[in-house]
Amino acid sequence: MSQKVRLRRLRYNKTVRDLFEDTHLRPQDLIYPIFVCEGKNIKNEIKSMPGQYQVSVDRLPSLCNRLIELNIKSVILFGVPDIKDDDGKVAQDDNGIVQRAVKEIKKTNNEILVIVDVCHCQYTLHGHCGTIDKGDVDNDKTVTNLGLQAISLARAGADVIAPSDMMDGRVNHIRNILDKNSFEKLPIFSYSVKYASAFYGPFRDAAENTPQHGDRKSYQMNYKNSLEAMREAETDINEGADALIVKPAMSYLDIIYRIKSKYSIPVIAYNVSGEYSMAHSAIDKNWIDKQVIFEILTSMKRAGANAIITYHAIEVAEYLNEN
Ligand SMILES: [Zn+2]
Repeated sequence: MSQKVRLRRLRYNKTVRDLFEDTHLRPQDLIYPIFVCEGKNIKNEIKSMPGQYQVSVDRLPSLCNRLIELNIKSVILFGVPDIKDDDGKVAQDDNGIVQRAVKEIKKTNNEILVIVDVCHCQYTLHGHCGTIDKGDVDNDKTVTNLGLQAISLARAGADVIAPSDMMDGRVNHIRNILDKNSFEKLPIFSYSVKYASAFYGPFRDAAENTPQHGDRKSYQMNYKNSLEAMREAETDINEGADALIVKPAMSYLDIIYRIKSKYSIPVIAYNVSGEYSMAHSAIDKNWIDKQVIFEILTSMKRAGANAIITYHAIEVAEYLNEN
């Protein structure tokens, strides 16, 4: 058979295969999410996320040292406070759980990039992402409170502010308040495209932020929409976001690809709790091979993500460092 084009010629030899790989997954591409709780020497495994823990502030330096050893250079912090209130004011406390966590990490480990999630769902008694007025989350009151949370976290020493609430105008407001307080060098990684998703189930166990009534569909996006995602991305870019986060990731690779194709801004994929737990439960039962983790994370890079927030970070980095 005369066949000039044979694509398999580049697949026979492993070195040739390696030579032409066009997507790479490195430990420094990964951002590790940490749930910080009150107490001393606490490491509570999260029931629906095997291998993931709520940890107390005093355990953060050793955890961060381990991450640096593995070449994971970034973390994103979520607070699990003991005390909550109606509009999440505890999130603005300079001595709040995440503020103390940032200071503890910075005291002992200057190498690690500390990203802080800015939202109110972990801090409100009702579990919604902002201030409730007349039965729904009030956009502008929430934005004002988010600004105060952001500035308190900036003062604590956070390296990056990451608003995840999905209120309109919050990037603009946070940028302004940071600039007015001489934090003009502090970047904002905005959760620009955050869908109302069933994939967040296990996170609610971890962060203890399940809404006590209703759902988040009046502020998070409808998963049937993609043009709206482009408007969200464009709005946040115009308001001064330095990088965009797409959440969840696995079922939203088209959105990552679309944003990356149109805008020249770094994009971060959030490989969320449900994606993690789904993969892990099947791996733990030996129904699928652990290699799926690499396939899943690589697909996010291939779609255009520059970095990935993932609970798999430690196991992936261990494997990459060994091989
Ligand atoms: Zn929230």
